[in-house]
Amino acid sequence: MLKVKEVEAKSLLNRSKIFDYCLNPYTGCQINCTYCYARLFMRRYSGHSEAWGEFVDVKVNAFEVLKKQLDKAKKGTVWISSVCDPYQPLEATYSLTRCCLKELAKRQFPVNIQTKSKLVLRDVDIFQEFETIEVGLTITTDDERVARLFEPRAPSVEERVRALEIIHSSGIPTFAFVGPLLPGNPERLAERLEGKVDKVFIDKMNYVYSVKGFYHQLGLQREMTDRYFREYKARLIYELEKRNMNFEVLF
Ligand code: SF4
Repeated sequence: MLKVKEVEAKSLLNRSKIFDYCLNPYTGCQINCTYCYARLFMRRYSGHSEAWGEFVDVKVNAFEVLKKQLDKAKKGTVWISSVCDPYQPLEATYSLTRCCLKELAKRQFPVNIQTKSKLVLRDVDIFQEFETIEVGLTITTDDERVARLFEPRAPSVEERVRALEIIHSSGIPTFAFVGPLLPGNPERLAERLEGKVDKVFIDKMNYVYSVKGFYHQLGLQREMTDRYFREYKARLIYELEKRNMNFEVLF
Protein backbone atom coordinates (compact mmCIF):
# COMPACT_ATOMS: atom_id res chain seq x y z
CA MET A 1 0.00 0.00 0.00
CA LEU A 2 1.22 3.47 -0.88
CA LYS A 3 2.42 5.50 2.11
CA VAL A 4 1.98 9.23 1.48
CA LYS A 5 3.63 11.72 3.85
CA GLU A 6 3.46 15.51 3.72
CA VAL A 7 6.90 16.96 4.40
CA GLU A 8 8.64 20.35 4.49
CA ALA A 9 11.50 20.50 2.00
CA LYS A 10 14.65 22.51 2.61
CA SER A 11 15.51 22.88 -1.06
CA LEU A 12 13.60 22.50 -4.33
CA LEU A 13 15.95 23.86 -6.95
CA ASN A 14 19.07 21.72 -6.95
CA ARG A 15 22.13 21.65 -9.16
CA SER A 16 22.14 18.98 -11.86
CA LYS A 17 24.83 17.47 -14.07
CA ILE A 18 22.39 17.09 -16.97
CA PHE A 19 20.69 20.51 -16.92
CA ASP A 20 21.53 23.56 -14.78
CA TYR A 21 18.98 22.57 -12.15
CA CYS A 22 16.63 19.75 -11.30
CA LEU A 23 13.36 20.09 -9.42
CA ASN A 24 11.55 17.19 -7.74
CA PRO A 25 8.25 18.16 -6.05
CA TYR A 26 7.97 14.63 -4.63
CA THR A 27 10.37 12.14 -3.10
CA GLY A 28 9.37 8.73 -4.42
CA CYS A 29 7.29 7.73 -7.40
CA GLN A 30 4.05 5.79 -7.30
CA ILE A 31 4.39 4.84 -11.01
CA ASN A 32 6.97 2.29 -9.86
CA CYS A 33 8.54 1.08 -13.13
CA THR A 34 10.39 -2.21 -12.71
CA TYR A 35 13.60 -0.78 -14.17
CA CYS A 36 13.57 2.62 -12.40
CA TYR A 37 17.16 3.65 -11.70
CA ALA A 38 15.99 5.83 -8.81
CA ARG A 39 14.99 2.72 -6.87
CA LEU A 40 18.68 1.82 -6.70
CA PHE A 41 19.57 4.72 -4.43
CA MET A 42 16.50 6.79 -3.48
CA ARG A 43 15.19 4.46 -0.80
CA ARG A 44 18.42 4.68 1.13
CA TYR A 45 18.88 8.39 0.42
CA SER A 46 15.35 9.23 1.57
CA GLY A 47 15.57 7.07 4.72
CA HIS A 48 12.49 5.04 3.80
CA SER A 49 12.07 1.41 4.77
CA GLU A 50 9.24 0.85 2.26
CA ALA A 51 10.02 -0.54 -1.19
CA TRP A 52 10.42 1.91 -4.08
CA GLY A 53 6.99 2.76 -5.46
CA GLU A 54 5.34 2.27 -2.06
CA PHE A 55 6.18 5.66 -0.54
CA VAL A 56 5.88 9.26 -1.66
CA ASP A 57 6.87 12.31 0.36
CA VAL A 58 4.89 15.31 -0.79
CA LYS A 59 6.89 18.53 -0.45
CA VAL A 60 3.94 20.69 0.58
CA ASN A 61 6.05 23.86 0.96
CA ALA A 62 7.52 23.43 -2.56
CA PHE A 63 6.18 26.71 -3.91
CA GLU A 64 7.46 28.88 -1.01
CA VAL A 65 10.90 27.25 -1.04
CA LEU A 66 11.21 27.57 -4.80
CA LYS A 67 10.24 31.25 -4.72
CA LYS A 68 12.97 32.01 -2.18
CA GLN A 69 15.57 30.05 -4.16
CA LEU A 70 14.63 31.72 -7.43
CA ASP A 71 15.17 35.15 -5.87
CA LYS A 72 18.88 34.29 -5.65
CA ALA A 73 19.36 31.83 -8.53
CA LYS A 74 21.13 32.60 -11.77
CA LYS A 75 18.87 31.88 -14.74
CA GLY A 76 19.29 28.34 -16.07
CA THR A 77 17.32 25.40 -17.41
CA VAL A 78 15.27 23.48 -14.87
CA TRP A 79 14.72 19.75 -15.34
CA ILE A 80 11.38 18.53 -13.99
CA SER A 81 12.01 15.91 -12.73
CA SER A 82 15.13 13.82 -12.25
CA VAL A 83 14.07 11.20 -9.65
CA CYS A 84 10.27 11.20 -9.70
CA ASP A 85 7.50 11.67 -12.22
CA PRO A 86 6.24 15.26 -11.78
CA TYR A 87 2.80 14.16 -13.02
CA GLN A 88 2.40 11.00 -10.95
CA PRO A 89 -1.23 10.56 -9.78
CA LEU A 90 -0.74 12.52 -6.51
CA GLU A 91 -0.07 15.65 -8.57
CA ALA A 92 -3.77 15.70 -9.48
CA THR A 93 -4.47 16.36 -5.79
CA TYR A 94 -1.51 18.51 -4.75
CA SER A 95 -0.69 20.52 -7.92
CA LEU A 96 2.88 21.12 -6.74
CA THR A 97 4.32 20.81 -10.25
CA ARG A 98 1.74 23.25 -11.56
CA CYS A 99 2.48 25.84 -8.83
CA CYS A 100 6.23 25.58 -9.42
CA LEU A 101 5.75 25.93 -13.18
CA LYS A 102 3.69 29.10 -12.71
CA GLU A 103 6.53 30.67 -10.75
CA LEU A 104 9.17 29.52 -13.25
CA ALA A 105 7.10 30.93 -16.11
CA LYS A 106 6.75 34.27 -14.31
CA ARG A 107 10.53 34.50 -14.14
CA GLN A 108 11.09 32.89 -17.56
CA PHE A 109 13.44 30.15 -16.37
CA PRO A 110 13.72 27.66 -19.28
CA VAL A 111 12.19 24.30 -18.43
CA ASN A 112 12.57 20.71 -19.60
CA ILE A 113 9.74 18.43 -18.52
CA GLN A 114 9.83 14.65 -18.65
CA THR A 115 6.93 12.43 -17.69
CA LYS A 116 5.00 9.27 -18.53
CA SER A 117 1.66 10.75 -17.55
CA LYS A 118 -1.18 12.25 -19.55
CA LEU A 119 -1.86 14.54 -16.57
CA VAL A 120 0.77 16.75 -18.22
CA LEU A 121 -2.04 17.94 -20.53
CA ARG A 122 -3.56 19.85 -17.62
CA ASP A 123 -0.70 22.37 -17.75
CA VAL A 124 -0.61 23.23 -21.44
CA ASP A 125 -1.89 26.73 -20.56
CA ILE A 126 1.25 27.35 -18.45
CA PHE A 127 3.61 25.78 -21.01
CA GLN A 128 2.37 28.40 -23.45
CA GLU A 129 3.62 31.19 -21.14
CA PHE A 130 7.26 30.06 -21.45
CA GLU A 131 9.68 31.52 -23.97
CA THR A 132 11.80 28.35 -23.76
CA ILE A 133 10.32 25.00 -22.87
CA GLU A 134 10.49 21.38 -23.98
CA VAL A 135 7.94 18.80 -22.92
CA GLY A 136 8.77 15.13 -23.25
CA LEU A 137 6.96 11.87 -22.75
CA THR A 138 8.92 8.72 -22.02
CA ILE A 139 7.89 6.05 -24.50
CA THR A 140 9.93 2.92 -24.10
CA THR A 141 8.14 0.64 -26.57
CA ASP A 142 5.33 0.59 -29.11
CA ASP A 143 3.98 -2.60 -27.52
CA GLU A 144 1.23 -2.07 -24.92
CA ARG A 145 1.70 -5.57 -23.51
CA VAL A 146 5.40 -4.97 -22.86
CA ALA A 147 4.70 -1.52 -21.37
CA ARG A 148 2.17 -3.06 -18.97
CA LEU A 149 4.72 -5.63 -17.83
CA PHE A 150 7.54 -3.16 -17.20
CA GLU A 151 5.50 -0.04 -16.32
CA PRO A 152 2.25 -1.48 -14.89
CA ARG A 153 1.11 1.75 -13.22
CA ALA A 154 1.93 4.13 -16.07
CA PRO A 155 -0.58 5.38 -18.65
CA SER A 156 -0.76 3.34 -21.84
CA VAL A 157 1.56 3.96 -24.79
CA GLU A 158 -1.45 5.19 -26.74
CA GLU A 159 -2.26 7.78 -24.05
CA ARG A 160 1.33 9.02 -24.00
CA VAL A 161 1.50 9.33 -27.79
CA ARG A 162 -1.81 11.16 -27.77
CA ALA A 163 -0.52 13.55 -25.07
CA LEU A 164 2.52 14.32 -27.24
CA GLU A 165 0.28 14.95 -30.21
CA ILE A 166 -1.91 17.42 -28.30
CA ILE A 167 1.03 19.30 -26.78
CA HIS A 168 2.83 19.44 -30.12
CA SER A 169 -0.25 20.76 -31.88
CA SER A 170 -0.47 23.48 -29.22
CA GLY A 171 2.81 24.83 -30.57
CA ILE A 172 5.00 23.60 -27.70
CA PRO A 173 8.31 21.86 -28.53
CA THR A 174 8.04 18.18 -27.68
CA PHE A 175 10.33 15.19 -27.46
CA ALA A 176 9.96 11.47 -26.94
CA PHE A 177 12.45 9.85 -24.60
CA VAL A 178 12.79 6.33 -25.96
CA GLY A 179 14.66 4.82 -23.07
CA PRO A 180 15.29 2.39 -21.72
CA LEU A 181 14.67 0.56 -25.01
CA LEU A 182 12.18 -2.16 -24.13
CA PRO A 183 11.30 -5.06 -26.43
CA GLY A 184 9.21 -3.85 -29.33
CA ASN A 185 9.07 -2.91 -32.97
CA PRO A 186 11.18 0.14 -33.94
CA GLU A 187 9.41 0.58 -37.27
CA ARG A 188 6.00 0.85 -35.61
CA LEU A 189 7.40 3.11 -32.89
CA ALA A 190 8.83 5.61 -35.40
CA GLU A 191 5.57 5.59 -37.30
CA ARG A 192 3.60 6.38 -34.13
CA LEU A 193 5.88 9.27 -33.16
CA GLU A 194 6.06 10.89 -36.60
CA GLY A 195 4.58 14.40 -36.67
CA LYS A 196 4.18 14.53 -32.88
CA VAL A 197 7.70 15.29 -31.67
CA ASP A 198 10.50 17.69 -32.49
CA LYS A 199 13.15 15.29 -31.25
CA VAL A 200 13.63 11.69 -30.18
CA PHE A 201 16.19 10.65 -27.56
CA ILE A 202 17.27 7.02 -27.57
CA ASP A 203 18.83 5.19 -24.65
CA LYS A 204 19.38 1.56 -23.73
CA MET A 205 18.69 -0.21 -20.45
CA ASN A 206 21.59 1.10 -18.39
CA TYR A 207 21.19 -0.98 -15.25
CA VAL A 208 20.46 -4.37 -16.82
CA TYR A 209 21.83 -6.19 -13.79
CA SER A 210 19.05 -4.78 -11.61
CA VAL A 211 16.27 -6.18 -13.86
CA LYS A 212 17.99 -9.32 -15.11
CA GLY A 213 15.72 -11.60 -13.07
CA PHE A 214 12.61 -9.91 -14.45
CA TYR A 215 13.74 -10.37 -18.07
CA HIS A 216 14.51 -14.03 -17.34
CA GLN A 217 11.12 -14.54 -15.73
CA LEU A 218 9.48 -13.25 -18.92
CA GLY A 219 11.73 -15.33 -21.17
CA LEU A 220 13.21 -12.17 -22.69
CA GLN A 221 16.91 -12.98 -22.28
CA ARG A 222 17.75 -11.96 -25.85
CA GLU A 223 16.06 -8.55 -25.40
CA MET A 224 18.45 -7.53 -22.62
CA THR A 225 21.69 -8.06 -24.55
CA ASP A 226 23.96 -5.38 -26.03
CA ARG A 227 23.39 -6.97 -29.41
CA TYR A 228 19.63 -6.49 -29.14
CA PHE A 229 20.04 -2.82 -28.15
CA ARG A 230 22.49 -2.21 -31.02
CA GLU A 231 20.21 -3.83 -33.60
CA TYR A 232 17.11 -2.06 -32.29
CA LYS A 233 18.99 1.26 -32.33
CA ALA A 234 20.11 0.77 -35.95
CA ARG A 235 16.57 -0.06 -37.09
CA LEU A 236 15.09 2.90 -35.22
CA ILE A 237 17.69 5.33 -36.59
CA TYR A 238 16.97 4.09 -40.11
CA GLU A 239 13.25 4.75 -39.64
CA LEU A 240 13.78 8.20 -38.08
CA GLU A 241 16.17 9.28 -40.84
CA LYS A 242 13.75 8.05 -43.47
CA ARG A 243 11.13 10.35 -41.95
CA ASN A 244 13.54 13.32 -41.50
CA MET A 245 13.01 13.23 -37.75
CA ASN A 246 15.57 14.74 -35.34
CA PHE A 247 17.12 12.35 -32.88
CA GLU A 248 19.98 11.92 -30.43
CA VAL A 249 21.44 8.60 -29.38
CA LEU A 250 22.67 8.44 -25.79
CA PHE A 251 24.60 5.15 -25.99
S1 SF4 B 1 8.06 7.14 -13.82
FE1 SF4 B 1 10.27 7.53 -13.84
S2 SF4 B 1 10.79 8.06 -11.70
FE2 SF4 B 1 8.75 7.07 -11.70
S3 SF4 B 1 9.19 4.91 -11.29
FE3 SF4 B 1 9.06 5.18 -13.53
S4 SF4 B 1 11.19 5.53 -14.16
FE4 SF4 B 1 11.09 5.85 -11.95
